[in-house]
Amino acid sequence: MSQPVIARQLFGPGPCNPYPEATAALGLPLLGHLDPEFIARMDRVAQGLRTLWGTNNARTLPLSATGSAGMEAAFVNTVTPGDVAVIAVNGLFGERMCEVAARVGAEVIRVDHEYGTPIDAERVAAAHPNPTVIAGVHAETSTGVVSDIAALGAIKGDALLITDAVTSIGGMPVLADEWGIDIGYAGTQKCIGVAPGLAPFTISDRAFERRVKKPTSWYLDLGLLGGYTTGGSGGGRTYHHTAPVAMVASLEAGIDRILAEGLDAVTTRHQDAGKSLQDGIQEMGLELFAQEGYRLPQLTTVKVPEGVDSAKVRGYLLDRFNIEIGGGVGQYANTVWRIGLMGPNANPASVALILSSLKEAIDKA
Ligand code: PLP
Repeated sequence: MSQPVIARQLFGPGPCNPYPEATAALGLPLLGHLDPEFIARMDRVAQGLRTLWGTNNARTLPLSATGSAGMEAAFVNTVTPGDVAVIAVNGLFGERMCEVAARVGAEVIRVDHEYGTPIDAERVAAAHPNPTVIAGVHAETSTGVVSDIAALGAIKGDALLITDAVTSIGGMPVLADEWGIDIGYAGTQKCIGVAPGLAPFTISDRAFERRVKKPTSWYLDLGLLGGYTTGGSGGGRTYHHTAPVAMVASLEAGIDRILAEGLDAVTTRHQDAGKSLQDGIQEMGLELFAQEGYRLPQLTTVKVPEGVDSAKVRGYLLDRFNIEIGGGVGQYANTVWRIGLMGPNANPASVALILSSLKEAIDKA
C-alpha cells in the first residue's frame, strides 16, 4: 500500500507527529560522521540531552538505535550471568526488560503489579536484599501510568538503577541525578517530537566504572561507544559505527525546539492537554484505565465501552479523519484505547479534534 498523501494525525502511543523543525532538519545536507561540524553537533545534542535527562553525566548520548536497543544496552553493560536483576513490571515494557535481562543470563526477580497501577518501591525493595540492578519504567506506554522513580532511587541501596524514560522524556520532568538513576534510556519518537530511531542514553560514572568490561554485544558496548561520542570538541573521537547523521540533525532541532519553549512550559503544555482530554473523555461518560493520581498526561488509556467494537472505532478514525489512536496491549488489546498527546500534539486544538472525532466514531462506527 502506498504512503497516504496527507500526513496521518498520529495520536497513538508513538510515533507522534514530529515538531516541524525536526522534520525540516532531516532535509539538511548530509555531513560526514567524523566531520568537525558533525562532531560539534553531537556535542550540542549531548548537552541538550543532559538538560532533558536532568543530569551532568559526561556519558550522555543518542545511541544509533531504537528505545529497545537502549534497553538492551542498559542490561548488557551491567549484568552478567547469575547477577540478580529486580525488575518492576506494571506493563509491557517492564515485561520486555525481564526478557532482555534473562537473555543476558541474569537471575530475574519480577515484581509484578496490576496493569494500570504504578510501581510500589517498597515491594521492589523487599524482593531481594542485594541485587546488581533494579529496573523500572517511568512512563508505561502500555497502560498510561507514571511511576515514582525517585522512590526507587531511595531504596536502591548499592544496586544500579536502570530507568526507561522513553515516553516521559521531553514531556514531563526527568531528573536523573536527583532521583538516583544510574542508567537511563529513552526514544526520540514520543514527547521529544522527532522520528523514531535514536535512543537518548545516559550512564553515571559509578555505573560506567562498574560496567561489564566485555559485554556480549559489540555494538552496544558502552566502553567502545564512549570514545566515539564523549570526547568533547572533536578530540579523542574514533570510528565505532557510521552515525545516522540526518537523525542526529533532526534530534538537535527537536531539542532546540523544546529548550526554546522551555522545559517547564513544555511540561505544562502536556499536563494541560492531558487533563483536558481526560476530563473530556469522562464527560462523554467513558472510563479511564490508569489509576487516578498516576495518569500520564501524554498517553491516556480509555476503557472501550461495553458493546463497542474497538477495531471498528479505530478504523473509522483512520478512514474518516486520518487519525491514528492505539489499541490496548496483551489481554487489553480490544478493551482499551491509547491516545497520545505528545510533542506538538499536546495542544488544545488536538484535544478538541480527538474528542469530537472519537465521539462520532463511537456513535457511527
Ligand atoms: N519503552 C517504552 C516505555 C516504550 O513506550 C517503547 C516503545 O514504544 C519502548 C521502550 C521501545 O522503544 P522502541 O519501540 O523505540 O524500540
